[in-house]
Amino acid sequence: MHTHAFADGIARHALDSLMSHMAAEYFTKFDGRLSTLVSQLRAHGFDRAVLCQIATKPEHFVPIMAWSKAILAGEFGEDAARMIIPLPSVHPADPERHARLAEVARCGFKGVKLHPYFQHFTLDSPDMLDYFRAVADAGLFAEVHCGYDAGFPFEEICGPRRVARVIGEVPSLRFMVTHLGGWQDWDEAARILIGQPIDIEMSMTVGMCEPSLLRDMLMRHPGDRIYFGSDWPWSDHAKILPFLAGCGLPQSRMEALMGGNAERWLGIAGGAS
Ligand SMILES: [Zn+2]
Repeated sequence: MHTHAFADGIARHALDSLMSHMAAEYFTKFDGRLSTLVSQLRAHGFDRAVLCQIATKPEHFVPIMAWSKAILAGEFGEDAARMIIPLPSVHPADPERHARLAEVARCGFKGVKLHPYFQHFTLDSPDMLDYFRAVADAGLFAEVHCGYDAGFPFEEICGPRRVARVIGEVPSLRFMVTHLGGWQDWDEAARILIGQPIDIEMSMTVGMCEPSLLRDMLMRHPGDRIYFGSDWPWSDHAKILPFLAGCGLPQSRMEALMGGNAERWLGIAGGAS
């Protein structure tokens, strides 16, 4: 439910500029190219991946839409067209946001990705609640970065408490919570969000969240509302999968986590294609 990638020509520059804001412990060894993402997915047995994109300025909507459509049209290969599920991004401060959200839906995309730090908003502000209502009205889901971010000061603008408030205030919104409810704010996420009827993705937790707490969260959350995510290239499937294999999750929970729930969320047919 959560990957990132860039066109070959800009991947290096994009990653270097992102890493210039991060501590070295978070650097990635991957090149961030779409072609590398596809080969990593294949190598680790994944059929599909959601590609999250972030418009850091309103005008980025246009190139992001063009690239998303080009992926589906096969311009980056048949495997990418079949395996990648792009999520475009409509900047919350875009004066044309309503028309843009409608365009995203009309073009057949299922949702939009949002990132409060890169897009400079507080998750549960009145303006954002209006934005989330517009996302729901367009028939889209919102996948939102939750918790702190490695590239920014630890200033709480999208933590678990705010996630709960958005879900409560906009019940019509299909909200995909990321990072098990709040990156580096997992005690709070475990207290407020885990076990609740919310949809939650687990990227950037393995190797970062204390393993017994992580296993407890993966076990305790409703089995039909928990989703695998890697945040590739910011983590390595080769490290996440062995951790999950050693967690002792019941097989049905594991299957739901590794794809069954995502197929239902995305409205796609199951299995390899
Ligand atoms: Zn991400």
